[in-house]
Amino acid sequence: MLELTPEQIAMGLSAMDKSTALQMLAERLQADGLVADGYLAGLQAREGQGSTYLGQGIAIPHGTPQTRDLVHATGVRLLQFPDGVDWGDGQLVYLAIGIAAKSDEHLRLLQLLTRALGEADLGSELRRAQSPEEVLKLLQSAPQELALDDQLIGLSVPAEDFDELVLQGARLLRRADCVGSGFAATLLHGEPLPLGDGLWWLNSDQAVQRPGLAYLTPDKPLRYLDQPLSGLFCLASLGDAHQALLERLCTLLIEGRGRELARATQRRAVLEVLGGDSQMDWPSLCVPLANAHGLHARPAKELVQLAKEFDGEIRVRVADSGAGAVSAKSLSKLLSLGVRRGQVLEIFAEPGIAATALPALQAAIEQGLGEEVEALPTSQPQLVEAEPEELPLQAPAAGSLLQAVPAAPGIAIGPAHIHVHKAFDYPLRGESPALERVCLQQALAHVRGEIEGLVLRSEVKAIREIFVTHLEMLADPEFGDEVETRLKQGESAAAAWMTVIESAAAQQESLHDALLAERAADLRDIGRRVLGQLCGVEEVPEPDEPYILVMDEMAPSDVARLDRTKVAGILTARGGATSHSAIVARALGIPALVGAGAAVLLLAPRTPLLLDGQRGRLAVAPDNAMLERARQEQEGRERRLHEAETRKLEPAQTRDGHAVEVCANLGDSAGAAKAVAEGAEGVGLLRTEFIFMAHPQAPDLATQEADYRRIFDALGGRPLVARTLDVGGDKPLPYWPIPEEENPFLGVRGVRLTLRRPQLMETQLRALLRAADGRPLRIMFPMVGSVEEWRQARDMTRRLCEEIPQADLQLGIMVEVPSAALIAPVLAREVDFFSIGTNDLTQYCLAIDRGHPTLSAQADGLHPAVLQLIDITVRAAHAQGKWVGVCGELAADPLAVPLLVGLGVDELSVSARSIAEVKARVREISLSAAQELAGTALGLESAAAVRALAETF
Ligand code: PEP
Ligand code: MG
Repeated sequence: MLELTPEQIAMGLSAMDKSTALQMLAERLQADGLVADGYLAGLQAREGQGSTYLGQGIAIPHGTPQTRDLVHATGVRLLQFPDGVDWGDGQLVYLAIGIAAKSDEHLRLLQLLTRALGEADLGSELRRAQSPEEVLKLLQSAPQELALDDQLIGLSVPAEDFDELVLQGARLLRRADCVGSGFAATLLHGEPLPLGDGLWWLNSDQAVQRPGLAYLTPDKPLRYLDQPLSGLFCLASLGDAHQALLERLCTLLIEGRGRELARATQRRAVLEVLGGDSQMDWPSLCVPLANAHGLHARPAKELVQLAKEFDGEIRVRVADSGAGAVSAKSLSKLLSLGVRRGQVLEIFAEPGIAATALPALQAAIEQGLGEEVEALPTSQPQLVEAEPEELPLQAPAAGSLLQAVPAAPGIAIGPAHIHVHKAFDYPLRGESPALERVCLQQALAHVRGEIEGLVLRSEVKAIREIFVTHLEMLADPEFGDEVETRLKQGESAAAAWMTVIESAAAQQESLHDALLAERAADLRDIGRRVLGQLCGVEEVPEPDEPYILVMDEMAPSDVARLDRTKVAGILTARGGATSHSAIVARALGIPALVGAGAAVLLLAPRTPLLLDGQRGRLAVAPDNAMLERARQEQEGRERRLHEAETRKLEPAQTRDGHAVEVCANLGDSAGAAKAVAEGAEGVGLLRTEFIFMAHPQAPDLATQEADYRRIFDALGGRPLVARTLDVGGDKPLPYWPIPEEENPFLGVRGVRLTLRRPQLMETQLRALLRAADGRPLRIMFPMVGSVEEWRQARDMTRRLCEEIPQADLQLGIMVEVPSAALIAPVLAREVDFFSIGTNDLTQYCLAIDRGHPTLSAQADGLHPAVLQLIDITVRAAHAQGKWVGVCGELAADPLAVPLLVGLGVDELSVSARSIAEVKARVREISLSAAQELAGTALGLESAAAVRALAETF
């Protein structure tokens, strides 16, 4: 990297004009062996294209791409002209920095220089400097700016105590390249300072690379040293970069506004209060920079000039760099980014100008900002790194066909109803309490009217009740009082309203009660409706006819609250087929596609959509012929389902007389009777963690026993396969926090976790054994990956059986970790059965997070690698006379059923709603043909090839 040294600086020179100064520079560069004869022409040509004046009396003359061959070695030479040299446009240069650059190494130097440019009166100080050392000091002594931006704010961070919050703060600073390893440890040993209002301050200057401040709030109320802990500042201190912020913070605390920070729910609000860089909510786009020498002075100047044409703020940062964004209107700040060719610029513009500014800037950057640019190769590593979603997105065009992840079968036709949480932009301070009060009252009245309309239109009682609750919440006098107090303190209506709603919601959540948590979601819902009114952002009204709900992602509770009569289908931008929300959609029987990509969120409201939840296809504005075919298929499917329904209580046998047991997956004790009514021959998977989740605190022995007993009673002698508690990964238990892990899916979850809490595991086993009372109980352990884990769990159960004897007990494991499948021949000698959890088995076999926003489409359980693991498991089990079930989502996939039966799976366990269909599918096939199909599938190359084959079956 280029470094500045005193030897490079010549002091006290004079030049009558710019051309003489350039000549002096060229001679100096040549004399020092950096360039060949002729470089002067390059310096002159470059000035001819545009002045290299940087600001504060500094110019940076350099050659053109054509004279790059004349550069022997990259370097700089600095000439001081105390009398100044006219650089054109009346700009006087006191320091000319001549650059000989072979590549873009000089950008780092520019970064350093441009930091100095921010200094108050650098030009005259450079002019007065008496020695090279003094010049150097002036150039290098500029304080580094304190990093404080969206990435350094963590709100509602999961933390159990002060130390965990500190570690999270250190992590944010590390991610922003402010600190190196070792910082976290020194921070933990620092002396925390209480600031009042629950705010704490902690700092360290060890292992700091650039100054930065992180601010975090915990996800639940915490205490530290007997005082509340609602917000923590972690400072990576370097010099006095944080001075201004500290002063601002003190003033804030004196004004009694600390609570604004402690209760903040939006990062933007925190930054507004602290004066940091905030542009997170602004519209943005990403553009790769193709200029050969990166964003050096000339293209940067073009960018600045263009940005200045817009009446509003525009900010730029290097995508994925961890560094904050800078104003696109400041040349020095832009240069300080040191952007190299191939790096991606992320540009943010204020909402008011975004629609015109962003495309204009994008076009200018793509056209080279006044320079000729060679297109970037598509294999440019920086481009590959950029997520496709970061590039500007467009709504899928009419007539297009999109592939997404099939999450719940069925065909849905209807207009798109786009449900995205919009980012709201609002001032924190209001104009006057009276004015803000009127605005709020109008917004409340409007929302009340809207909700009253929804109450009238809702045909489903449970949903009507939700809206009635919303009306009650809107009228809650407590909110009114609190909001009023805030308005009087000068807050804007939007800020006051949201702070009150958010703090009430957070309070509800902190009580870890499932019902109250739902109420928190309701509160936020009405909070946003009112905020939307205040900010002039109207929610798009629901279409009257059944529609396709388009969302970014959906939580299981979102799905559970849907109005089945209005929502014909679900389409999400993110998520995977085996995420738990997809499982809920399937249970409700709503056709769903997930992981369709962010572009679907840009669909115009009411765009006609055709969604095929089985094939994973979405047709945008399909033509009539396609719609007709889909309707016919829909009718055919409904007919088949109807026929299947009539035989759901009969056992399932293939055409050649091979019986396959079809059982139900259950997540609560209440669903057992319904499952039996739907034709379940038993429960093949009881997800006991959902039973735990339904309780506000860990259920004790008696509570659990009662729950399990209810299931046995409903099953009337049919077997119950209960899985011991499987928490961790995407299934946290609110009252049983698990330390945060980098990779929770690869961490302490399932049996690994319960074996570490033997008391809890014993209580659960005891409850199951006691509830069985002679009825057929099968217990299986989740996430077993080794023989030792199985044996420990088995031995614990056997010990308890001595106390609580069993008449009909089998012990088995879930096969969902590839190692268990691969050692199935060993395990099969000891277990009574295997149940294959294809959701996790696929995730671990293909190394794709089952809920990954973009990859999960490829996490297909019909991948031949997964089928191979199933094959190994079944063969091993049958060799020992043991049975094998499949309880993952694959078991309900009509295309997968023949393959699983062909591989020899004895039992399929699916959601109650799918039982009739799966039984019907079994009846359609013959075992011998299914075996042949499976044998062929095992040798195929991809999941797509297997699906294509299965379609023909
Ligand atoms: C599985 O992994 O396939 C499974 C059935 O368990 P869960 O989806 O609950 O992780
Ligand atoms: Mg699993």
